[in-house]
Amino acid sequence: MKLITFSQGGSTRIGLLEGNEVVDLQAAAPNLPTEMVAFLEAGDPALDSARAALDSNSPRLALADVHLESPVLRPPKILAVGLNYADHVAEAGMETPKFPMIFNKQSTAAHGPYDPFHVPRASAVLDYEGELAYVIGKRCRHVPKERAAEVIAGYTICNDVSVRDWQLRVPTFTMGKSFDTHCPLGPAIVTSDEIPDPHSLDLRTWVNGEQRQSSNTKHLIFDCYTLVEHLSTAFTLEPGDVITTGTPGGVGAVMSPPKLLVDGDVVKIAIDGIGEIENPVIDEPAETIRIG
Ligand code: MG
Repeated sequence: MKLITFSQGGSTRIGLLEGNEVVDLQAAAPNLPTEMVAFLEAGDPALDSARAALDSNSPRLALADVHLESPVLRPPKILAVGLNYADHVAEAGMETPKFPMIFNKQSTAAHGPYDPFHVPRASAVLDYEGELAYVIGKRCRHVPKERAAEVIAGYTICNDVSVRDWQLRVPTFTMGKSFDTHCPLGPAIVTSDEIPDPHSLDLRTWVNGEQRQSSNTKHLIFDCYTLVEHLSTAFTLEPGDVITTGTPGGVGAVMSPPKLLVDGDVVKIAIDGIGEIENPVIDEPAETIRIG
């Protein structure tokens, strides 16, 4: 199943993506929660109800008539990994990490799969990072990697948008990785049963149609399951948490000369079996200034 969050007719709710159509779960399975974190917290019975709705002749909406949102509107946590592909470690001029280099993106950065993200007012040093991400489906702690697949609800695409000067001018990445709009996710959470091996997926990124990144998740240094074990050694993972696994080589900032993102660019990321996200880049609009 492809789990989505969408807006239509003045409300935002969850559904299922099937080709160019959307099963509206609020209509097809009215007993289910209408928000993704609550849906995931409801566990396997909720997934079974959704699957039954997909298999029935529930009415469909045209995909063109809805607006796709981040599949998890406000993830409890967004955790990311730096330097997790050898070619990206090399282009960054760094040493291969002995331990996963974990950092947070703030949950307020979560953004829709086709929505424009911002060149911030504070910096023009803006870059993309195409990444495989996954969404936690079960509250868990101390999960051995052999059992990690049990806690992963499904897989999605992340653009780990990065403000390079803010990322690198202090010892932690928190600010430079967390500007509003800088975590496009989607288009759907593809449930784990449809991704039998998350470590064999082609991943590609284009800017304005020019291919910038092309790799495969078999090259991950710390794979999805190892990351679940590592993270859950320290803290509880919860339904809706997003873990994004790092980017391969080909980011813009280290090109010679650098190819930074500017207003008017379009970034597309595709991963086998999941789909693609495509976000325009715009200058941060004036209305983001607000107090209260
Ligand atoms: Mg990254």
